Amino acid sequence: MHELTTPKDMHAWSRAERARGRRVGFVPTMGALHEGHLRLVDRAKERTDRVVLSIFVNPLQFGPKEDFTKYPRDLARDRTLASERGVDCLFVPALEAVYPQEPLVRIASGPMADTLEGAARPGHFSGVLTVVAKLFHMVEPDVAVFGRKDFQQAMLVRRMAADLDFGLEVDIAPTVRELDGLALSSRNSYLDADQRRAALALSRALRAVEQAWRSGEADPKTLQRRGMQALMAPGVALMAPGVSPGYLELVDEQLRPVARVDARTVVVIAAQVGATRLIDNVVLGEGVGSDIAVRAS
Ligand code: AMP
Repeated sequence: MHELTTPKDMHAWSRAERARGRRVGFVPTMGALHEGHLRLVDRAKERTDRVVLSIFVNPLQFGPKEDFTKYPRDLARDRTLASERGVDCLFVPALEAVYPQEPLVRIASGPMADTLEGAARPGHFSGVLTVVAKLFHMVEPDVAVFGRKDFQQAMLVRRMAADLDFGLEVDIAPTVRELDGLALSSRNSYLDADQRRAALALSRALRAVEQAWRSGEADPKTLQRRGMQALMAPGVALMAPGVSPGYLELVDEQLRPVARVDARTVVVIAAQVGATRLIDNVVLGEGVGSDIAVRAS
């Protein structure tokens, strides 16, 4: 596995691969790799000839009170996981390499970013899209793979690539969960055992909405109420205190609340478990059960 640290070297490597007729796949991450990230690598390998995985904790997307400094970092472990999974090039640029000066010009994230995570985290998506645009220029991939776990982010990146003519394919991969339903996230490492149990409230709420819809309930407001009830189910809340709801919405691909629910409707959820903000989602027609389930590592 190659390991590169400068945008210049990254660019040259990618150009050389493509000059040899190889398609380059790209998986951008913030590190603290888990099976969710590694499945994106598998998917990129299926679709392209060479896979680049980047690790960069992007300060631009963290709010002043968020966890930029304490975000989990373990490059040695990440390097081993990436190499074992068949990553061809690990790109680990330093902060100064990505931002040699303060970026005064940034991507305007537009109305799809004004809602949900964007409403709760002002500036977050402008920060995400700015770094993703920069990484796209450094890597020049043919295909970039993102996780549906971060649904709003995936939709925004796809839309940015289309609207700003990046000339690459944004592929969106299913969410990877533990066997009990918890979506994998680097931030799960912040949870203690009680909070880990409490965090199951998110996937339970998504399942409750899905079941109600499958039993014939089609009113978005009623479905939303069912989900919220499941999120805060008193019996479980007593066993697992500390969950405070953020939002639970039924939306379309542009993150707009739907008036009519159909199989493509996405249920998006956010909740605070202790000090940790968790998000999850399900496409109603696919269901939580169709996501990838893996044993905890
Ligand atoms: P992160 O480094 O966690 O911000 O995420 C890097 C990429 O991995 C993003 O495209 C995420 O959507 C994706 N990702 C994170 N967690 C999961 C998961 N549980 N399942 C699938 N993709 C994921």
